[in-house]
Amino acid sequence: MPSAPSLGLPLASPPALSDEDPLDLCHEIDELRKKQDATILAHYYQEGEIQELADVAGDSLDLARAATRVSTSTIVFCGVHFMAETAKILNPQKRVLLPDLLAGCSLAESCPAPKLAEMQVRLRAEGRKFQTVTYINSSAAVKALCDWVVTSGNAEQIIRRVPDEFEILFVPDQHLGGYLQEATGRKMILWPGSCMVHEVFSVGDLLKLKRKLPQALTIAHPECPANIREHSDFIGGTQAMLRYVEKFAEPRDFLVATEANMLWQLQHKHPQHRYHPVPGVTCACNKCPHMAKNTLAKVRDCLRDGRPEITWQPSFDKAREALLRSFF
Ligand code: SF4
Repeated sequence: MPSAPSLGLPLASPPALSDEDPLDLCHEIDELRKKQDATILAHYYQEGEIQELADVAGDSLDLARAATRVSTSTIVFCGVHFMAETAKILNPQKRVLLPDLLAGCSLAESCPAPKLAEMQVRLRAEGRKFQTVTYINSSAAVKALCDWVVTSGNAEQIIRRVPDEFEILFVPDQHLGGYLQEATGRKMILWPGSCMVHEVFSVGDLLKLKRKLPQALTIAHPECPANIREHSDFIGGTQAMLRYVEKFAEPRDFLVATEANMLWQLQHKHPQHRYHPVPGVTCACNKCPHMAKNTLAKVRDCLRDGRPEITWQPSFDKAREALLRSFF
């Protein structure tokens, strides 16, 4: 299998536009899904048209768990590489397809396994007693070096399971780690990684939006830096955001600081409200260019051709132990 792609800054190119009719593509996908005995899983950061045709749409934790419950022999994972890799690790017997093998993640790329291993050796040589916790946005090789794997949906709960006598080395997202330090009171050694999408929300534009819509509530993902979190009414992962807005029966305005496709899911599940994307410093909204590599045409092609496929790698065995300890 080709190794996980190297996709650091600058932004990856947008996907090539297909001139195929989306309705025809959806029809072809439906036929192929039956013929290939496949289940389609889609992350909330995929375009709405992909979330709509998926058998399950969800956040990383939902999808990792859903992947263990599918009855079909094939899973098509509409998300990025580390997510499809996680689905394969949890389902060694299933065929896992990723529509575009180059759908990477700048956050996962910011923590290469050999560098993490070096840091762990250095800390041990200093006599530090620690456990390593990785956000799920990391490669299998990194997960294999870790004691715990967290998502934004279960991170606080897992951090509280780390015995007090250990320090916590948290990788790769410094902002999520910073938020978890505040939320749990546990001091952490933070890896200096960040998500290119959540890093670039403009606090100036957020404050302008708040002045324009003074009654609006701001909901932010914990991957956002502290200057965005401190102006937010609610901080939580995508599933927690859905639960939060559901509590409001009367229509409200929400300023949303996470990947912009999440607005499709919010609108879909809770259409009584109005949602406004918090802009980034360089664009009107924040869409993940890696997630955008998956298109309807590529979903069709991967079902038709049975590739690209995620195949078992040596690091998967150790990564599986950490995932099972953390999620089940
Ligand atoms: S939104 Fe950020 S963390 Fe999520 S896949 Fe894209 S680059 Fe990675």
